[in-house]
Amino acid sequence: MKKTSGDIDWRHLDASHHLHPFTDNKALRLTGVRVIEKAEGVYLWDGDGNRYLDGFAGLWCVNVGYGRKELIEAAAAQMQQLPYYNLFFKTTTMPAIELAQAICELTPPGLNQVFFTGSGSEANDTVFRMVRRYWDLRGQKKKKVFIARKNAYHGSTVAGASLGGMRYMHEQGDLPIPGIEHIEQPYAFELAGDLSSEAFGRLAAGWLEQKILELGPEHVAAFIGEPIQGAGGVIIPPLNYWSEVEKICRKYDVLICADEVICGFGRLGHWFGCQHFGFTPDFMSIAKGLSSGYLPIGGVVVRDEVAELLVEQGGEFNHGFTYSGHPVCAAVALANLRILREERIVETVRKQSGPYLSRKLAELVDHPLVGEVRNIGLIGAIELVADKHTRKRCGKLGDTGSLCRDMALREGLILRATGDTMLLSPPLIISGAEIDELVAKTRLALDATAAQLG
Ligand code: PLP
Repeated sequence: MKKTSGDIDWRHLDASHHLHPFTDNKALRLTGVRVIEKAEGVYLWDGDGNRYLDGFAGLWCVNVGYGRKELIEAAAAQMQQLPYYNLFFKTTTMPAIELAQAICELTPPGLNQVFFTGSGSEANDTVFRMVRRYWDLRGQKKKKVFIARKNAYHGSTVAGASLGGMRYMHEQGDLPIPGIEHIEQPYAFELAGDLSSEAFGRLAAGWLEQKILELGPEHVAAFIGEPIQGAGGVIIPPLNYWSEVEKICRKYDVLICADEVICGFGRLGHWFGCQHFGFTPDFMSIAKGLSSGYLPIGGVVVRDEVAELLVEQGGEFNHGFTYSGHPVCAAVALANLRILREERIVETVRKQSGPYLSRKLAELVDHPLVGEVRNIGLIGAIELVADKHTRKRCGKLGDTGSLCRDMALREGLILRATGDTMLLSPPLIISGAEIDELVAKTRLALDATAAQLG
């Protein structure tokens, strides 16, 4: 029997047995949880019958939108044929092979080897181990340190959270683990002052060079970064930032790891974020949009020269997951990539919906609470401020963002807040009319927030 919200007290049951991720569970039990019951296209419905426009694509992942029958059918067919098998012990499965090939048809030239994981966190843990293994095999046993950025998000596993730059995550569990250094993020809104975008790009990339020199290049193994920092606040670096970073990494023999977990599979209007910024990484972590979140799957794409050394000289790589390249997840990811390709969704984001979102967001700049709007493709942010000119924030950082997120919910729109930055990342299939609705509801949420602030 299909269980609806009517016949079971879901909220009570949830409060009785369920510990939520990234949640104050005590506070949640007092307010009661929102039960999401069904979804279609860009819309979600909760158990009370409220409809929401999902301005966040689940967690930056439902790229092809909800309710795609092709994905459901692909899962069912694969479940019947082979619901599970692993990739260990000299075995493989057809969906895993096909998916590795399909991914490598989309990656930048020179990235042609895939290691599968079950998530983005596992992908970054895999990168961490592969990078260190690589330098060991090259005989450079001192090259161990990863340089990452403040406010980055690379997942919740121990290595992922350590690579990430979230102080509130480090505070729980004595992180980061040794061998990880964090530099300042390229956050123009807060740090660029009067500098031109290009000058700020050079300055921010220079922070990496300074850190490499401070540590000694012989100790630095890799630099890891999201092409656009997502959870940290949709921090869009200047267009020259990544090419400057690339030059610095090549100069000091430091590997480049692009965490493409959010940016990959079309969000920026290219298959991968590195293609928008014009750099070639040695490792790409992927997940989320790979299957549009329908089933959990991730992976690491490795540049040929690096993979060749790992394969030719590495012997057995003592690392892997029960669900690495799970056949049902792989079959769904394949169907998802087919939809993205056949419906030319990535191109539409680049040429139509992304530029249209830019034009619509620009209409919000006149709002008294808005200090800046920014987006590339279908990822964007709105900075909330008390004073547009000085960019002074409104009281305690985070309060206004949370309020605005709650006001958006009341309007039937799901947005996310990092501090006082509102984040947007709708499904890539969002139509022009739906973008209109998203922006109109955002304005109502901003009005309601301003009214409450008084
Ligand atoms: N990397 C980035 C850039 C992410 O945004 C996330 C999740 O939000 C992760 C890694 C971790 O992925 P997962 O939650 O699948 O472990």
